[in-house]
Amino acid sequence: MILIFFGPPGAGKGTQAKFIAKKLDIIHLSTGDILREILSQKSELSNKLNKIMNSGQLVSDIILNEIVSERINRADCQNGFLLDGYPRTMDQAIFLDKNLQKNNLKINYIIDFIIDDETIMQRIKSRSFTENRNDDNEDVIKTRIKKYQNETKPLSEFYKKKYVTEYNIIDATLGIEKLNNELLKILKIY
Ligand code: AMP
Repeated sequence: MILIFFGPPGAGKGTQAKFIAKKLDIIHLSTGDILREILSQKSELSNKLNKIMNSGQLVSDIILNEIVSERINRADCQNGFLLDGYPRTMDQAIFLDKNLQKNNLKINYIIDFIIDDETIMQRIKSRSFTENRNDDNEDVIKTRIKKYQNETKPLSEFYKKKYVTEYNIIDATLGIEKLNNELLKILKIY
């Protein structure tokens, strides 16, 4: 089973992704988590990534595509995986499609988390207290939202058209539990 959780920062993708991946016994693949893991080991690359991520910009497609293609071809992904935070650009979406096609794999579900900017701001502000993330201050959040609108949101249209039956929207303003129930319904997990 291959799933994509798609949506802006603060939509609650991570929380739901962890739960659903566990339920389906598939790998939760959060590119943000993988990048933060790289940051924790000091290197020239981690210094570069640190600056990009702390300013709310996107890391280059080349780096992301390499990380994801290496990761999804590992043995533990044979049962399936849930992508959380990838793809975020058209280049990444096209790369992913080609990679899956080459390996005779297909996307089963795309979940588009819909949420307004105001709610995102509120949520991320409160998250910055509990998770202590450097990329959660107000200016950086604004940059991240702008990046989402300009680079990532257009992928909605791409997926809606190309994956008519796999594409689903979900109201991400619902609380964690309601959102979870909606997801279980969409994914037909009983
Ligand atoms: P996240 O935890 O998904 O919000 O990701 C945190 C940061 O990691 C983002 O603001 C980006 O700087 C970087 N990042 C994560 N995933 C991607 C991606 N698919 N493409 C580019 N940058 C990414």
